[in-house]
Amino acid sequence: MSLLDRHRAVVPDWVALYYRDPIELVRGEGRHVWDADGRKYLDFFGGILTTMTAHALPEVTKAVSEQAGRMIHSSTLYLNRPMVELAERVAALSGIPDARVFFTTSGTEANDTALLLATAYRRSNQVLALRNSYHGRSFSAVSITGNRSWSPTSLSPLQTLYVHGGVRTRGPYAHLSDGEFIAACVADLEDLLGHTREVAALIAEPVQGVGGFTSGPDGLLAAFREVLDRHGILWISDEVQTGWGRTGDHFWGWQAHGAAGPPDLLTFAKGIGNGMSIGGVVASAEVMNALDANSISTFGGSPVTMAAGLANLSYLLENDLQGNARRVGGLLLERLRAIGMTVPAVREVRGRGLMIGVELVRPGTEDADPEAASAVLEAARAGGLLIGKGGGHSTSVLRIAPPLTLTVAEAEEGAAVLEQALRSL
Ligand code: PMP
Repeated sequence: MSLLDRHRAVVPDWVALYYRDPIELVRGEGRHVWDADGRKYLDFFGGILTTMTAHALPEVTKAVSEQAGRMIHSSTLYLNRPMVELAERVAALSGIPDARVFFTTSGTEANDTALLLATAYRRSNQVLALRNSYHGRSFSAVSITGNRSWSPTSLSPLQTLYVHGGVRTRGPYAHLSDGEFIAACVADLEDLLGHTREVAALIAEPVQGVGGFTSGPDGLLAAFREVLDRHGILWISDEVQTGWGRTGDHFWGWQAHGAAGPPDLLTFAKGIGNGMSIGGVVASAEVMNALDANSISTFGGSPVTMAAGLANLSYLLENDLQGNARRVGGLLLERLRAIGMTVPAVREVRGRGLMIGVELVRPGTEDADPEAASAVLEAARAGGLLIGKGGGHSTSVLRIAPPLTLTVAEAEEGAAVLEQALRSL
């Protein structure tokens, strides 16, 4: 029986796998991974999935194995030096005054904790989220996920209201200028709040990840913030995909919105552990201490994951990977835009840093083309390149998010494979 058949026999149907013939990855190094048949791929998606810096980064491997050799334990009940050290660094980087950090094991759990805090602090279970958002897969996280294809139940512990602001290029506001778009979204928010009392929080991804690497214009969140402040509503910035310099110009995604920040709560996860399970939430002591009973996470912040996070963060900062994301990401964006101009199925190439989306349509129309996206994914794989896909109700945006150590040569190599794949449509 193949591994795929065995997988299907024991794993739920709704656990998504890429590719007609799914890949079993067995090894990684730098920006490359290898499958069980020994085929090598340039990894243009692992940067979001797990690997912020590089696969098998020696600094991280060493830190993990040294810590594992000394002590593998939970994060709680006893003092935990690696956790305190990473919390100190994350608190300082967050920009949030008097910050406290609570570590979890995933982005879902980080957002879940942020919702627990915000709803307790405001004594309300009403929250605002953006249309087309993705925030995770727990009961509360799917309840703030506007992207319905990732929201598998209509039941909810929260009362969620969805506002415009995530998707710029489609929908009723698509024809508006930046300023008009912001004004329309703010009017939408004000309108909702006019009919609602005591909303706890607004949660937003500065750039929507699963939704197809899309965002409102810079300054949108600052305009939202003004309204939220008037109502005492907390702002949660979900930095699970945008954090740690990926967007190039900024360390956190919210910083593209200038006067908006810092947010009241910030959540992070994915690549900071470079593959080890780290998530977390940062908030001021006042908001964080809104809970009045004990709460722990057995493994959130466990010493081995924290050792990985510390080594990974040090590498990221010491090697200015944010700057690399800006430089190499800028070149890659330019190159893909040039290719996109000559491929009729490409509607838009957009992005910031090493977070680039290529939106596909049926040529000559505005109709999303998920089959084309799947075909490009397959063709890129055949050419030795792994990419992702995402985007709203139909999955028609190619997502490119390599590890932040990507070199110019690798960017060019990947762009050439992608060009071939797009031309094969
Ligand atoms: N928030 C965002 C913005 C995400 O992209 C994701 C994962 N795709 C999550 C939260 C959930 O993270 P995890 O899968 O680690 O639970």
